[in-house]
Amino acid sequence: MKIKLSINSMAGPKRKAELLPEDIGTDDCLTSYTHIYSPDLLKDQVAFVTGGGSGIGLRIAEIFMRHGCDTVIASRNLDKLKEAAKKLSAASGRRCLPLCIDVRQPESISAAVDETLKEFGRIDILINNAAGNFLCPASALSFNAFKTVIEIDTMGTFNTSKVVYDKWFKDHGGNIVNISATLPYRGQALQVHAGSAKAANDAMTKHLAVEWGPNGVRVNAVAPGPISGTEGYRRLGGTKAEAVGTFQSIPLQRAGNKTEMAHCTLFLASRASSYMTGAILVSDGGAWLTSPNDVSTLLGIASSKSAKL
Ligand code: NAP
Repeated sequence: MKIKLSINSMAGPKRKAELLPEDIGTDDCLTSYTHIYSPDLLKDQVAFVTGGGSGIGLRIAEIFMRHGCDTVIASRNLDKLKEAAKKLSAASGRRCLPLCIDVRQPESISAAVDETLKEFGRIDILINNAAGNFLCPASALSFNAFKTVIEIDTMGTFNTSKVVYDKWFKDHGGNIVNISATLPYRGQALQVHAGSAKAANDAMTKHLAVEWGPNGVRVNAVAPGPISGTEGYRRLGGTKAEAVGTFQSIPLQRAGNKTEMAHCTLFLASRASSYMTGAILVSDGGAWLTSPNDVSTLLGIASSKSAKL
């Protein structure tokens, strides 16, 4: 059977495809956008998005800005962030401040949060999206590679949450949304590093929700499935999986798109979910319930990928 590669055709029957929000497979802004939520939903709020210069994080920043929010996008590569910030402001008419941080270094986060407060005077939303990932069998994973993923995904999420809490959320409240994954639910093959890190993050989402709720801070998570047009998707064999029809095993029979993840994140970051905290919103088309977790098949995908950090 011939599989067409456009995002809409991946959705199966045409009548279903028409329900999908717009997306673009590159790190560019949307050329058109139809609001589902009120365009004023985040009016004059400020969101701090780690890893906001690419992939899902960039689309989250864009969709938030299209709902009236100013953003900070923060990661290691300042040139990439500056370019993304220009595109985001041009597409939305809102302000976007690119800042260099490494989520493994609390002092770099601290400096960026100070700069954010100086520039915008507030932070309403923190999106912990920065992560590193690759496919690798546990037996071939170096100690350093495992440690690095835990440091970025898990410690980075704690570091950033704590800095933003101490400097602003503790006294003003706020919303944290952690970008998680479904990898740990069934022990996804070749992903012991990222799965362990995200499982810890899901626990952290609940711990922080319990401890910080009285200060007006909600802490929730979105757990995406395979999302097209991302580095994660390319590295984790999404393009190959799509070509050989693997997504037919997903109940919704397609990969998700970045705008869909941004809409879930917007829901959790906004007053639309005002009584939710400690929740993990799985947005994967039902993939984790039915997708293959077969080491030999997945090793075939891994052998064509770089497996080292
Ligand atoms: P991506 O484009 O590679 O995004 C990761 C971002 O994290 C990059 O912008 C990167 O920017 C930043 N980053 C990495 N290390 C960092 C560090 N030490 N300090 C600060 N920033 C750092 O990947 P993505 O696929 O969109 O993934 C985004 C999130 O979705 C991740 O949490 C991922 O686990 C999750 N997710 C993705 C999928 C998927 O199919 N794509 C599925 C499930 C979950 P710099 O290089 O500039 O630092």
